[in-house]
Amino acid sequence: MYYPTSHPWSADQTLGDHLAERGVNRRDFLEFCGSMCAVLGLSNSMLPRIAAQLEAVKRPSVIWLQLQECTGCVESVLRTAEPTIGDLVLDVVSLDYQHTLMAGAGAAVEKALADSMAANKGKYVLVVTGSVPLNENGIFLTIGGRTGREILEEAARDAAAVVGVGACAHFGSVQAARPNPTGAVGIREIITDKPVVNIAGCPPIGDVVTATLVHFLTFGRLPEMDSEGRPLFAYGKRIHDQCPRRAHFDAGQYVEVFDDEAARKGWCLYKVGCKGPATFSPCPIFQWNTRTSWPIGAGHPCIGCTEPFFWDTMAPFYGRLPNVAGFGIESKVDTIGAALAIGATAGVVAHAVATGVYQLRHRKKAEAAASAAGSSTTKEG
Ligand code: SF4
Ligand code: SF4
Repeated sequence: MYYPTSHPWSADQTLGDHLAERGVNRRDFLEFCGSMCAVLGLSNSMLPRIAAQLEAVKRPSVIWLQLQECTGCVESVLRTAEPTIGDLVLDVVSLDYQHTLMAGAGAAVEKALADSMAANKGKYVLVVTGSVPLNENGIFLTIGGRTGREILEEAARDAAAVVGVGACAHFGSVQAARPNPTGAVGIREIITDKPVVNIAGCPPIGDVVTATLVHFLTFGRLPEMDSEGRPLFAYGKRIHDQCPRRAHFDAGQYVEVFDDEAARKGWCLYKVGCKGPATFSPCPIFQWNTRTSWPIGAGHPCIGCTEPFFWDTMAPFYGRLPNVAGFGIESKVDTIGAALAIGATAGVVAHAVATGVYQLRHRKKAEAAASAAGSSTTKEG
């Protein structure tokens, strides 16, 4: 669990000095930079630049607004069993404004927000979770007597970068589902004069937030995005194309009902509603809970939560997705088992190889994470 640290990263200290003070050695730091290179899709030749830039960074001001939302995103980003260097980078969020994590409350905290924006005009990173309700002049969300829209517009005006975290900030999420009683919208509907990056998902993956901040701190700009504002390094591929159950899809091996023999064997969840073929997200790679698992890994179909308006467009969640591009699966899925009978052995072998490679990679990652956690300093509780 993340707690605000008693060794805060002070404004005049570089990140390199701060990490050294926290007991992080250079090897661990370079390992972290290497993992960020991999996550961001950069070649290893960029590692020295990332390391040099990050080391020299002085504590940036981060202001984190929570608007109309459930706080699940904050939990996803900040809750971790093993604090990593990425968490240390995120230590910064407790320092300026984050109303769930701050010890203070009321007028003092709202003053801290105003002071921080004034002191860091044009330089702070604005992180936003939650949607903006517009119906009835926005009265469904007020903080300190002001509407979410007013607070967001003011905070965005002088921000160097705006990062929307979660489906609520992306398009309004569950509050914007039909009939959308509060008139909830995503923050890009409000902030139209500067780029907004959307770390999509309900909730999104904490590592993607860290990597996006690292990209901004290293290169001074937000990463390349798709038309939804999602960073391409993370959301450039469909779940279906990275899924460890894909060999079963290709072999026509499907779970028919939950808890059948196929479910126990870990076959494809397409027939019980998986939206992986229409969903762009890095879930199979990053996973959740310190890379322990993810929905499909745990036997539940993907519900498409990184896609806009998924509560309406992906429902019913346990209904089959029609017209899967490139395979024509809807017309073939009921007969494909027979049609592929001869090819089934090859399919199973392909699946075994794919799964074996996946498991090997996964095991290596887990071992590396365990040894990194063992050699880095644990944060105080
Ligand atoms: S995106 Fe999902 S987890 Fe995040 S605040 Fe909204 S409802 Fe909660
Ligand atoms: S349909 Fe779902 S479970 Fe099946 S391979 Fe695609 S993403 Fe994986």
